[in-house]
Amino acid sequence: MIEEDVLCPFCGCLCDDLKVEVEEGRIVGVKRACRLGMSKFMGHERIVAPMVRRDGVLVETSYEEAYERAAEILKAAKRPLLYGWCSTVCETAKKGILLAEEVGGVIDSTATVCHGPSIIGIEEKGLAGSTLGQVKNRADLIVFWGANPAEAHPRHTLRYSSNSTGMFTPEGRGGRKVIVVDVRKTRTAKNADKFVLIRPGTDYEVIAALRMIVKGKGDLLPDAVAGIAKSDLEEVADMMKAAKFGAVLIGLGLTHSRGRYKNVDGALSLVADLNGFTKFVVLAMRGHYNVAGFGQVCAWETGYPMAVDLSRGAPYFNPGETAACDLLARREADAMMVVAADPASNFPRKTVEAMAEIPVIQVDPYPNPTTFIADVVIPTAVCGIEAEGTAYRMDGLSLRMKKVVDSVYPTDEEVVENILDRVRRLGDDN
Ligand code: SF4
Repeated sequence: MIEEDVLCPFCGCLCDDLKVEVEEGRIVGVKRACRLGMSKFMGHERIVAPMVRRDGVLVETSYEEAYERAAEILKAAKRPLLYGWCSTVCETAKKGILLAEEVGGVIDSTATVCHGPSIIGIEEKGLAGSTLGQVKNRADLIVFWGANPAEAHPRHTLRYSSNSTGMFTPEGRGGRKVIVVDVRKTRTAKNADKFVLIRPGTDYEVIAALRMIVKGKGDLLPDAVAGIAKSDLEEVADMMKAAKFGAVLIGLGLTHSRGRYKNVDGALSLVADLNGFTKFVVLAMRGHYNVAGFGQVCAWETGYPMAVDLSRGAPYFNPGETAACDLLARREADAMMVVAADPASNFPRKTVEAMAEIPVIQVDPYPNPTTFIADVVIPTAVCGIEAEGTAYRMDGLSLRMKKVVDSVYPTDEEVVENILDRVRRLGDDN
């Protein structure tokens, strides 16, 4: 049996054109997916059964005991941290926020260590945004700033941006100009018409210089800015102003270099300036397939998109104080629940050491380094393959993910709901 128009639950491109071949309840082939999506569909090592840590060792247990243990940990904690939520569907996020509210915890997503600064920058400046469909159909200039889709979002250029063909862009790559700004010559940069190599941590200076040139004040600039010749910057500004429809696509190179959300604020301001001359939009190259979805659910439930402290009776948001890494770095979190994420792999060392000192609950289909420090491990079905649900593409478009094959595992949503039920029961018993 061939399933058509399947969505890929891997990266923020959320490609929706995959063909998946199923035989006797197993996936035996996938067409159109990139190598990243392919590896997810074709499967790899799974967590086989629920586990709890006894005498320092993870041992298999029942789902019932795992739920009970998880509920006891969260209920007993004074400052529980519920983290992850971006490689799962919106329905799980909604239950997670209810759980965080019930235990008076802090809920945060993986955005905190990726495009969180973009979100703060957007709050500061506002967003001249668009859908990826508009970029595909209209953009004749694409700027990748600190983004390398050739490695991180392999089908982005072909489906949505530089190499795609659209209604008003029938020539595809031939009818477009591509600018790449990065700290090294990436694979994406090799496809560029103009590559601007910048020194790490100088994005803000370079953006500020471009804004001056765009606004006709380039004569006030020195001959070079952050090591880049003014003539190079003038060429970039000319290309931008000459475009009929330009799109700036920002990546982690911008959000996680010195300046962070101020870099994003600068990029959004540059785009706002360019709209005085032509049509320009800006989009964040979101990583996990539903990182945008968690932000949506969290914002409509609490008023804030991430790093929300629900211990005060009203939601409180102050990244730098209430983000997952902040709580762990201050040794404030005394229990942690990790859903569909792997902070042990990508958090700073000191925060992972803090995780190792507190009870950790992991909810995930796959084992990862977080499993090694978890005290309760609960395996789940893979969303978008073994469970349906809603996810938001990197441009904010919501899409419905299919269930392609059955699973013996409960969904993330069911697991969080079961823990929530038990937490409420513990509350009733006390
Ligand atoms: S580009 Fe992203 S969403 Fe598309 S197939 Fe590859 S991993 Fe999946």
